[in-house]
Amino acid sequence: VISIVTKKEDFLDSATDKIAEFFINAKSVVAFTGAGISTESGLADFRSSKGLWAGRKPMEIASADAVKRNPRMVAEFYRDRIREYANVKPNNSHYILSEWLFSGKMPCIATQNVDGLHATSHEIKHRINELHGNLDLFCSSCLEKYPMEKYILGDDATFHLCDSCQGYVRPNVVLFGESLPNKPFTSSRSKFRKADLCFIIGTSCEVYPASSLPQETYDNGGKVIIINKTPTKLDYMANFVLNDFNASVVLGLIKTKVDVLTNQK
Ligand SMILES: [Zn+2]
Repeated sequence: VISIVTKKEDFLDSATDKIAEFFINAKSVVAFTGAGISTESGLADFRSSKGLWAGRKPMEIASADAVKRNPRMVAEFYRDRIREYANVKPNNSHYILSEWLFSGKMPCIATQNVDGLHATSHEIKHRINELHGNLDLFCSSCLEKYPMEKYILGDDATFHLCDSCQGYVRPNVVLFGESLPNKPFTSSRSKFRKADLCFIIGTSCEVYPASSLPQETYDNGGKVIIINKTPTKLDYMANFVLNDFNASVVLGLIKTKVDVLTNQK
């Protein structure tokens, strides 16, 4: 049964009561996240009307084909992203999920984001599966790794060329037209299958096959909670859909209630 929670605060209160109860009773909780979780950090959501892609065609910028046609344009696009991300910090949603990773209750987060904001500390990095890669740089010819600073600080004419072989230095993101790296996806899939509760946060779940992960939880009888500004393709499987609140507010309430219930036990 889906409960769509509207702006009314009493609905938010009763929904988060119930979700906190789900959380307490779950053995394993997972999270599937997208750009919407980082908007409170000040990053543009790719698909919203004011987002990164607004007025631009992703296929013409961030695609494998564009790299062939105009590698420098692609590099400049990501140089802008890296500059933008350098000034951005994780927000409360990232920190709450990190605490749940630390506690052991959450075995993994599967994220479509390349912003690296989930990795609030080194110890939890291995539990964060970056389905679409990240902004680490490497040479596409000799595979030498480079720090992100290369794109920012490098000589303007050659910032995207390998110092050793003059090959094309690119970010480790999955471009349109490239397949997802296998490991983060398969590792997530088994954890999502075993989970009793799945949070979907800040994603319209339009990009397949990443969006098939929550399906694993749902098919195995797990509960699904969706926190997103707009309706998603997976609303039909959710126990609660929360459209009108910031993720940090919803997760903050859930965490407070979970902590109170845990201390009462
Ligand atoms: Zn090279």
